[in-house]
Amino acid sequence: MPARVKETPAPPRPPAVSREVLRPALEFCLDVHAHPELSGAELRTADRFAARLEASGCTVTRGVGGGHGVVGVLRNGEGPTVMIRAELDALPVTERTGLAYASTVPGVMHACGHDLHLAAAGGAVAELARTRSAWRGTVLVVGQPAEETLCGARAMLADGLYERFGTPDAVLAQHTSPAPAGTLAHAADFRTPLLAASTALDVTLYGRGGHAGTPHLTVDPVLAAAATVMRLQSVVSRETSPAEHAVLTVGSIHAGERGNVIPDTAELSLCIRALSDPVVDRMAAAAERVVRAESAASGCVREPDLTVTSRSPALLPDPAATAAVRGAHEALFGPDRVTDCGPLTATEDFAWFGGQGVATVYWMLGVTGVGPWRAARAGGPPVPANHAPEFAPDLRTALPTGITAMASAARRILDGEGNGR
Ligand SMILES: [Zn+2]
Ligand SMILES: [Zn+2]
Repeated sequence: MPARVKETPAPPRPPAVSREVLRPALEFCLDVHAHPELSGAELRTADRFAARLEASGCTVTRGVGGGHGVVGVLRNGEGPTVMIRAELDALPVTERTGLAYASTVPGVMHACGHDLHLAAAGGAVAELARTRSAWRGTVLVVGQPAEETLCGARAMLADGLYERFGTPDAVLAQHTSPAPAGTLAHAADFRTPLLAASTALDVTLYGRGGHAGTPHLTVDPVLAAAATVMRLQSVVSRETSPAEHAVLTVGSIHAGERGNVIPDTAELSLCIRALSDPVVDRMAAAAERVVRAESAASGCVREPDLTVTSRSPALLPDPAATAAVRGAHEALFGPDRVTDCGPLTATEDFAWFGGQGVATVYWMLGVTGVGPWRAARAGGPPVPANHAPEFAPDLRTALPTGITAMASAARRILDGEGNGR
């Protein structure tokens, strides 16, 4: 999730977080990083996160949303309600960081920093619990499953998240980015979304298998898939205005087992992202037209299957609530460490939590250590970004920054500033 950073800031200075808050947060982060779980299978992570919230005095409900969703409630008298959201899931990536606490689960890695988000959320709640005499209101904490598959937020809302636990005035989330650790970045332009809207499609093309030496007796789905992938590139380059931020990626293609057998089917998975929902809709319709036409052009034996596997709206943070939170961050970290970002073609299902009087605030949390950042700027290897096997946040700086950023943001909302209602 790339964030734009204006200049190299001074070496980060970790904000002060009390030892009683920081130490368990760090231990939790290392433990969760070593034991990542894929989207929808976050049993252990949800359990550990729930335990962290209970240790801070939250009333915790598990299994919200039909999966492993966790909701913690910290009530502290009359006042606003603020919701803190962090994601539970990891990715199907093989870790190559070489860290002492690297993943112990083959092929699964916290390559998007959700372990750090959870640790920071848990730390922020611990900090709010510790200082509860200074504020009034309710803190909701959500451990959301299945963010990477863009399903978890809607499932929790459909399970009555707000009806059961209260509708928040504002929902807060932060996301790791490959900017320098110790920096934060907020949306600066509220005319365009910070994060893109998206949809994802699975496609199956139906050929007729046979011998590699007699292709004329078959319908080759590999060739149909290749033609489809190439033609899909024209959806952005020829059918979408150059002024749009739009991207179409075919991230997965599977067909056949060996070189001398023409298979029966080919499967593609693709995602479409743009900064407005109508553009995503138009691109999805164009992609479907291309898939069906290439299938027909290849003489496929039946119509292709197209399945929409996810849909998420563009994220446009609330201007007033963002200004209030940004003010808190600049006061704590200094304006040089709080930069502008967006629009980004990253995508999230966090946007589902906002709207109808619920303000969303979302910011980027820089996680790159001083060494890799300076090396990259001096022409060395690029900084490993989210979803890369080498993605390795500098916890020493990024974790206390994340805790302080989230706790101070929640305090601003609890103090009644920038609320959506
Ligand atoms: Zn991710
Ligand atoms: Zn993520």
